[in-house]
Amino acid sequence: MIHSGMVFQLPAVLCVIDIVRCPVTLHRPILSISCISNILGYIDSLSSNQNGYRVVLLHLFPFPIAGPEKWCDNFPIANGPRQSPIDIVPGEAAFDAALQPLTLKYDPSTSLEILNNGHSVQVTFADDTDSSTLTGGPISGTYRLKQFHFHWGASDDKGSEHTVEGTKYPAELHLVHWNTKYPSFAEAASQGDGLAVVGVFLKIGDENPQLQKLLGGFDGIKNKACQTSFPNFDPAILLPGSLDFWTYDGSLTTPPLLESVTWIVCKETISVSSAQMEKFRSLLFSGEGEAPCCMVDNFRPPQPLKGRKVRASFQ
Ligand SMILES: [Zn+2]
Repeated sequence: MIHSGMVFQLPAVLCVIDIVRCPVTLHRPILSISCISNILGYIDSLSSNQNGYRVVLLHLFPFPIAGPEKWCDNFPIANGPRQSPIDIVPGEAAFDAALQPLTLKYDPSTSLEILNNGHSVQVTFADDTDSSTLTGGPISGTYRLKQFHFHWGASDDKGSEHTVEGTKYPAELHLVHWNTKYPSFAEAASQGDGLAVVGVFLKIGDENPQLQKLLGGFDGIKNKACQTSFPNFDPAILLPGSLDFWTYDGSLTTPPLLESVTWIVCKETISVSSAQMEKFRSLLFSGEGEAPCCMVDNFRPPQPLKGRKVRASFQ
């Protein structure tokens, strides 16, 4: 709980903050304009009630303050039983005939904005209705698209989070969905079946025309905390032709590393050219006025499987 007069310490992590009346004066807290504008880009929801306000903050990661090897200091779950990413060994993934085909139904009108959140580039979507959803595959019920983002390397020989029998790809796309049996993304994010993330590997090849609109949007968001509107984008154009997938129970790959993700990793890759990869690397971790720091190597390396089984939707 935060009482009036307290200062937000940034960066924060995914969290719910109840700002309550001061128990002594019973005054409602006053949030200064500068405080509000600092956190504005990260507020998932802000509601007020008779006791004060509830603010739900989205991922505001402590990136790149310390590398993944240091995350366990603040997030002990970093060494938990279902951490992500993993190395996928196809020969050890069991075909599961019970897995349903994946259904991704996206409405381009739900695309809202493109954001440099200081650790990746992210496109966010309106998720107040079932307009853009994921169903089928390993999940039951309906999951809504919240955002997609990428991870990539400083060079073409690394960048993906998942690897396939040790093979690293230059980038990996993550489409993040939340289970509508919970009231919001923020509340789903801490539940074991709360999130479903579809991962797609990018592989060096021909220029991918489907990436051009997205890469064009990077110009306005070079620095951390920059965002610009990004209307009418259909993320389905980024998917591979085949939706064959591997699936396993895992976690967020950035703090707070919550073990709430059903991972769905596509077997088929999509193409990206080396020149297009350079455009990803032109983004900056740093904010305006800070020393420029290229946004590269924003991936977590594979984590121990710890007895988990990876299932395949295909033989
Ligand atoms: Zn990710």
